[in-house]
Amino acid sequence: MFKDIASYHHDLLKGQTSCDDAVTYFLNRINQQQHLNAFVEVYSEEALLRAKALDQKRIAGNQIGKLHGVVIAIKDVICYEGHKVTAASLILKDFESIYNASAVQFLLDEEAIIIGSCNCDEFAMGSSNENSVYGPTLNALDNTKVPGGSSGGSAVAVQADLCMVSLGSDTGGSVRQPADFCGIIGLKPTYGKISRHGLIAYASSFDQIGIFGKHINDVALVLEVIGKQDEFDSTMNADSTFIKVDQPENSEENKKYKIAVFNEVMHHQSLDKEIAASINITLNQLKSGGHEIVSFDFDLLEYIVPTYYVLTAAEASSNLSRYDGIRYGHRTHKEVTDLNDFYTKNRTEGFGKEVKKRIMLGNFVLSSGYYDAYYQKAQQVRKLLQDKTIEIFKTCDAIIMPTSPTTAFNIGEKKKDPIAMYLADIFTVFANLTGIPSIALPIYKHSNEMPFGIQLLTNQKDELALLQLSNILISSSNKVS
Ligand code: GLN
Repeated sequence: MFKDIASYHHDLLKGQTSCDDAVTYFLNRINQQQHLNAFVEVYSEEALLRAKALDQKRIAGNQIGKLHGVVIAIKDVICYEGHKVTAASLILKDFESIYNASAVQFLLDEEAIIIGSCNCDEFAMGSSNENSVYGPTLNALDNTKVPGGSSGGSAVAVQADLCMVSLGSDTGGSVRQPADFCGIIGLKPTYGKISRHGLIAYASSFDQIGIFGKHINDVALVLEVIGKQDEFDSTMNADSTFIKVDQPENSEENKKYKIAVFNEVMHHQSLDKEIAASINITLNQLKSGGHEIVSFDFDLLEYIVPTYYVLTAAEASSNLSRYDGIRYGHRTHKEVTDLNDFYTKNRTEGFGKEVKKRIMLGNFVLSSGYYDAYYQKAQQVRKLLQDKTIEIFKTCDAIIMPTSPTTAFNIGEKKKDPIAMYLADIFTVFANLTGIPSIALPIYKHSNEMPFGIQLLTNQKDELALLQLSNILISSSNKVS
């Protein structure tokens, strides 16, 4: 039923559909697809009420907002006033947001309809959505496979046609990897492009809200709406003139791009051979379209996963120290002996295993004697990676690499092997370590029937080139298929 936002708006204005129809359709779909466990909560009644109010407003002849009636799901780490937000954790059970995340406020200001909150890994820590207190989300294409993580529910909500677009968060790949596993588009903008105000923090110097959709223009439109300066986030970097990919002044169809690839990535032992071969097909198509492909060495590749996990665990150990069960959140029913015992019991009961592991790891790498060996070393590697992007973007417009080394894996397959799970992030964490924007584009289907695509990265704040090149890649893949 839903094609894209532009045609939905066209149909609304012609009176061929209504916001009420759209919400009713998605609520029915959500109901039929409950086994996917994509939603933590569905705001059925209020979404219908809002749809009816928007219909009246439009029919009365008022101008419509940019996201008028667009049905959006949000990850359970994004605050929506008066609604529960739990980061899929027991420690935040029943916690209700007392304000809107700025991104949510911007969506509402443009008349979007928030339909529900989506399942995810606890505190966005994970690559499979298996670390949720609500249980795993299933990949809609094959229910024995993970949808990826940590924003697995938001990805499946779009994949399975349960909403039009959705928001996730991407600290190390949590939007792009599930998009890749589910065969949809996932965008992580430049660090600081979208306000983090009201996004539950995991690792603050990495976290970024991201967008899932099935069409580049839909993703670009949502970015236009939520990617704006916000006084509540002092780390913003959003001074954007925007980005209308479909506007004639920005259409650069004939522009020839210079695209970087990393030798070590394309030959990495973890990379599925079929994925490597398909990316090479894309590179060859680009070459025959007159674009230039430039190979770079990337000898830091082996260090990026450890660097990412040292730094994010360190930041998480600090960010998560606020959950003590005193003012809000889970509080133990057991007898306590003193304040310390109270904290310990609240946190031991409230956090899941993966979160506890990272808090301990983070405290370890920050502790005296280990700080220099781990935390500081990792910061130095981060700087080298940032220097690498500066070097590349001096001469190139973009980087292409796989999003994930494999297609969606089986539920349970990597749960017992944390190193294997962490290594699944090898190609996504680079964008977060360096702050550059990156997008996962669904292009291919593997012989195992699961989707995969390519990951495209551009320079800081260059979402325009990112989206334009995405358009080129998606339309040339449509021509092939
Ligand atoms: N899989 C990564 C992690 O567990 C990424 C998570 C994310 O981007 N939120 O840290």
